[in-house]
Amino acid sequence: MTSTAQPITDDLRTSARAALRNIGVTVPKGGDLHARTPLTGERLFGLTAATEADAEEAVDATRAAFLTWRTTPAPRRGELVRRLGELLSEHKSDLADLVTIEAGKIRSEALGEIQEMIDICDFAVGLSRQLYGRTIASERPGHRLAETWHPLGVVGVISAFNFPAAVWSWNTAVALVCGDTVIWKPSELTPLISLACDHLLARAADEVGASRDVHRLLLGDRVVGERLVDDPRVALVSATGSTRMGREVGPRVAARFGRSLLELGGNNAAIVAPSADLDLAIQGIVFAAAGTAGQRCTTLRRLIIHRDIADTLVERLTAAYDKLPIGNPFDDTTLVGPLISMTALDAMNSALARVQAQGGKILAGGKRRLSEEAPAAAYVEPVLVRVDEQSGVVREETFAPILYVLTYDTLDEAIALHNDVSQGLSSSIFTRDQQEAEIFLSAAGSDCGIANVNVGTSGAEIGGAFGGEKDTGGGRESGSDAWKAYMRPATNTVNYSSEPALAQGVSFL
Ligand code: NAD
Repeated sequence: MTSTAQPITDDLRTSARAALRNIGVTVPKGGDLHARTPLTGERLFGLTAATEADAEEAVDATRAAFLTWRTTPAPRRGELVRRLGELLSEHKSDLADLVTIEAGKIRSEALGEIQEMIDICDFAVGLSRQLYGRTIASERPGHRLAETWHPLGVVGVISAFNFPAAVWSWNTAVALVCGDTVIWKPSELTPLISLACDHLLARAADEVGASRDVHRLLLGDRVVGERLVDDPRVALVSATGSTRMGREVGPRVAARFGRSLLELGGNNAAIVAPSADLDLAIQGIVFAAAGTAGQRCTTLRRLIIHRDIADTLVERLTAAYDKLPIGNPFDDTTLVGPLISMTALDAMNSALARVQAQGGKILAGGKRRLSEEAPAAAYVEPVLVRVDEQSGVVREETFAPILYVLTYDTLDEAIALHNDVSQGLSSSIFTRDQQEAEIFLSAAGSDCGIANVNVGTSGAEIGGAFGGEKDTGGGRESGSDAWKAYMRPATNTVNYSSEPALAQGVSFL
């Protein structure tokens, strides 16, 4: 494995200031919430966290704005999102810099995250001229039965550090064209990119003549998030993060009969069948398992290989892992940047100790890198671990680049192993056997929200609905008809005859 020259915190601070200034954000001037960078593990700026009063005011303001926004024609709401998309394009490079500085993504993945935001804005603009309801055949003469979709209210968006901007845009672009207003509580680990996105949306609102109060940003930790969770004026809480967080948020929102949309952890697997194109499989596997330093919700964490090809594939994967360039994510040759924090490194080391205690054998990687050059940062070698059975830590999501390798003999056995975890986000099969592929995609196949053939588990397109089952929370965001979560359907019956008629043939009066 190769390493690259390390950045220093002063330079990163200067770059972050420059990016914020180019975007138009006033550079923060101190406070008790700290922006930091995983590239060195050090602090960048102090910021001011939202207070209880700020949260109250944000709910009041977005609720008031909703009353106007909900009757603004949807295509006009789309104009705001179109302008946001244009501003995101204009500032793509600066926004990507902030993502790299705060979340540690390599340059091409950081640019990809901003592209995803631009794409969802395009999608939402198109959606603003759709939002279709249905006409339903009425059983009564002279009656029309129809369904109309109305805006829901204030949407609280709670997001995770690993997609610090894209998850906000999936929710916000769609919620805004649906006629909702939004309050965003981003991860406390990524406040700078949040300030930048909030600023660009406010600018877009000014330019198209919309109220700035269609969106509010609340910086802070989970306590600020809890404020949104418990407020009955927040109609929908869309929360992305760990299953632990979802277990707390889901029941609290349900207790007040609010709606929640939960996008939680994954423990994603790929099956590699004997007929697989191994070149294709290796590319898909290494990107999904080691990309973003294993910190995607869709990261590949379990590899289920047919016994006949296991040795060959493992040998080729080990060779690929040994060559992965790890280090400064701003360096164009780097493929693996840092983990988000030393806590994440501790969690990874603890998972590796546990898997070895249960008989797992490390085949490649697993060592800490650059500890002298960047003692407070957590650079690690992605790890391949051979395990005999799917037990203990293999069944958990460790948010780090650990790939557990299992073997199988029959497809039934592989699918059973695949589905025998509590999470259900993303999945894939590498095969050239059409029957196997179709079985994997069928109702008796993968139980995940995302099931792919000859494509790895990570890197979804925005056009499809994104989300997963079981402990992943059941939510769907982004494309397809995920917009329906941000609206409320009303069923309308219209009698255009002069005769009364009751349903089910009931007579009365
Ligand atoms: P996290 O759960 O620690 O935090 C996520 C967000 O929830 C943060 O903004 C945090 O402040 C807030 N939060 C935490 N507890 C809360 C509570 N009780 N009430 C209200 N808000 C609360 O997650 P993280 O470490 O930032 O992100 C990594 C996790 O997110 C992984 O498990 C990953 O799989 C998951 N994730 C899922 C998806 C998806 O779409 N399914 C996408 C990205 C990340």
